[in-house]
Amino acid sequence: MSTGLSLSGVGKDFRVRGRTVRALDGIDLVAAPGDFVCVVGASGSGKSTLLSLVAGLIPPTSGEIQLHGRPVTGPGPDRGLVPQAGTLYPWRTVERNVAFGLELLPLDRAERARRVSWYLAETGLAGLRKSLPRQLSGGQQQRVAIARALACEPEVLLLDEPFGALDVQTKEDMQVLVRQVWQDTGTTVLMVTHDVEEAVFLGQRVIVLACDPGRIAAEIPVELAEERGLDVKRSAGFLELRASVEDLVRAYHAQVR
Ligand code: ADP
Ligand code: MG
Repeated sequence: MSTGLSLSGVGKDFRVRGRTVRALDGIDLVAAPGDFVCVVGASGSGKSTLLSLVAGLIPPTSGEIQLHGRPVTGPGPDRGLVPQAGTLYPWRTVERNVAFGLELLPLDRAERARRVSWYLAETGLAGLRKSLPRQLSGGQQQRVAIARALACEPEVLLLDEPFGALDVQTKEDMQVLVRQVWQDTGTTVLMVTHDVEEAVFLGQRVIVLACDPGRIAAEIPVELAEERGLDVKRSAGFLELRASVEDLVRAYHAQVR
């Protein structure tokens, strides 16, 4: 039995006003347990569709998705999705937002409380547990969304451009946080973003999607030290890699214009 996440020949068509739109075509992707894989592509290249498929929110039109050799047929606590933006429950406090997924799991009260406290601390939110989402900054709200996904201790964490709406400093704080969480928990991370710098900084591998239909154009290993601080972004090796990935994204975007 294979371990980790695998997609083989995955395609997705949408019907839009009688017309078929192919969002993804022939996606082959493997992530071993503990891998950090980033997928970059222009807007419309199928990044969110890819994560919705892995999350089990929509079925593929072709191909198969497996986790540990078992087909993915719907959502499950083994996969935690942090969607693009604004998905907190506004009437729930921070701690009750984080507890949300846990309420659906067969855990006793003490274990639920332990996990809520643990992941609030891990994401730097311990002091805000009684706050409501509207009292938080954008960065704090995204921390809650991440803590909520982590609390279920998913084998695979799915991040959909989670920092797109944040200012540069907050975004970089969040990038450091995500790497820290990944190292602390050993979870597999599949993150999609249009931000090449972010993808190269975070990933062990960067997959470039071409548009129309969304398909894998290139897969680039990131040969930077595992211990990465933000200062790595100024290193020659980083800048070179970032430029070559940016060129690829641009080349595969331009092809359809
Ligand atoms: P990205 O996240 O990379 O911007 P998406 O996955 O959102 O791209 O979209 C990829 C393509 O699929 C786009 O052409 C988009 O219009 C189309 N698409 C996505 N979701 C739907 C849907 N629910 N119904 C119809 N078309 C969709
Ligand atoms: Mg998207």
